Amino acid sequence: MTLTDLTVRKVVVATMYGKERAFGPVLAKRLGWDLVVPDGFDTDALGTFTGEVPRSGTIEETAIAKARLGAAETGLSLAIASEGAYGPHPHFPFLGAGLEIAVLLDTHTGRVIREHILDERPVYDHITYGSQTELDSFLDRIRFPQQTVILRNQGKTDKIFKGIQDRDSLGTALIALSKSSAGETILIQTDMPAHLNPRRMESLGLLAEKLADRLTCKCPACDAAGFGLTDTRKGLRCAGCGHPTRLAVGEIWSCTVCSHLSHQPRRDGLAEADPGQCERCNP
Ligand SMILES: [Zn+2]
Ligand SMILES: [Zn+2]
Repeated sequence: MTLTDLTVRKVVVATMYGKERAFGPVLAKRLGWDLVVPDGFDTDALGTFTGEVPRSGTIEETAIAKARLGAAETGLSLAIASEGAYGPHPHFPFLGAGLEIAVLLDTHTGRVIREHILDERPVYDHITYGSQTELDSFLDRIRFPQQTVILRNQGKTDKIFKGIQDRDSLGTALIALSKSSAGETILIQTDMPAHLNPRRMESLGLLAEKLADRLTCKCPACDAAGFGLTDTRKGLRCAGCGHPTRLAVGEIWSCTVCSHLSHQPRRDGLAEADPGQCERCNP
């Protein structure tokens, strides 16, 4: 994919959940792209958040598979797809975090440009039904009904109410679940598909900006589009003892066409690690 390839106008965004609302305006403004959504596109066949269809492969593989489907469906050569994974924060497991990745696939060359974003304050939450007071405080916290909920019996997917966005439907679902399986715990969770989760849609807008940053950055060696951060170099020295720590000393930017690399400093300008982060000073 060269910079001239990016002057195409129509690019498919392989989504059935309104993600074009997050990507469309950003990529139109930054790259002049007109995003096309395939009609009747079914990405749930590649896995769902609620587990009826398990995902196979990594989220990146799933995103690339979606992009390939979108390209096949529309006959366009450039396809964007994104995929999210929500779970415990990688460093603070008691907090939730969301990883959103986006890929741009060029079906002519098979080349893939990737970008990602980590949301450390996602709306990704659940409670088990106890009292109305607990339920009310949960609903306030997640900003129901802009954020919708799922109800089901814990550990089961046979009877599941998704996209609940008003109190009446919530009440009906609670009654139905308690009748159908007396004594079982009822789980109330935030819906995670992007069109039902406003916070995810916001994250996807930021991800679209990051993807545009990467796509508009060209490789200094071969001029290909998509030059950017691919790795970090560890070993920032401790301010106390000078020993290298696990913190990054800088970024590695690379090209996915010619393998050109460049070393960049840390964005925050940090030159030494706090001794609290050092294995020697603070074992
Ligand atoms: Zn030290
Ligand atoms: Zn290059």
